[in-house]
Amino acid sequence: MNTTFSCVGCGKCCNDHHVPLTLAETRMWAADGGQVIVLVEGFLSNGLGLPVQQREHAERRSVMVRSGASQAYVAITFAAYNVGPCRNLDEDNLCRIYERRPLVCRIYPMEINPHIPLNTAVKECPPESWEKGPDLIVGGELVDQELEGLIQRSRQADRDDIQTKDAICALLGIRTTALKGDGFTAYLPDMSAFASVIEQVAGQTLEECGSEWVFHVSGDDIARQVLDAGAQVVTDASSNYAFISLRAA
Ligand code: SF4
Ligand code: SF4
Repeated sequence: MNTTFSCVGCGKCCNDHHVPLTLAETRMWAADGGQVIVLVEGFLSNGLGLPVQQREHAERRSVMVRSGASQAYVAITFAAYNVGPCRNLDEDNLCRIYERRPLVCRIYPMEINPHIPLNTAVKECPPESWEKGPDLIVGGELVDQELEGLIQRSRQADRDDIQTKDAICALLGIRTTALKGDGFTAYLPDMSAFASVIEQVAGQTLEECGSEWVFHVSGDDIARQVLDAGAQVVTDASSNYAFISLRAA
């Protein structure tokens, strides 16, 4: 498959998209007065919740934790909470922080996850952006080496930051994850508490924080599988997070 692409500056990707941030970008976002959303998903060491071929990528960006008698892996995403236009989008659809915009903003419309191929049909970019411009993908391979470098940096930051994100979550009382494929747990932390916890852990060498995670699942059938694997489960909604189900209605 060959794909050409040229951004037409429509600004659609800067509306209603929570932008995943590296830890350094999260600190910047918080310092600028922005809201961060924390999205959490996990899987069990027996592989429940994860296709085999995705395991290496998922493990490398996750922290190994305990849940009951089971070992689990938890991936934590800090993202800019963008409902409506991003706080940095100006009236001319230009980014006010263009020179220091997050990595993911530079990478869009490409995917970070190597298991998700680019699907132009689900991207915000209008048809004309795909109709001309330089080659983006030739023979299924990304040809823009600068873009490839940004994607690799983003993946590496995911791996480098995960232990610190886990420590931040522990200090904020974020300890309930969803099962990968079943949903996400989503937290909107108070940003003054969040900013002070980020500063508290910045630059520290972190031990594994050891506190346990529990799984919020969408139904009794999945709960039974997670419990059978020895992990802890909750099904009641909590006041400090929302459960975003990925289960087909
Ligand atoms: S930071 Fe800039 S590029 Fe990124 S979503 Fe906001 S306005 Fe768009
Ligand atoms: S949606 Fe696509 S074309 Fe529009 S500004 Fe974003 S990257 Fe450019």
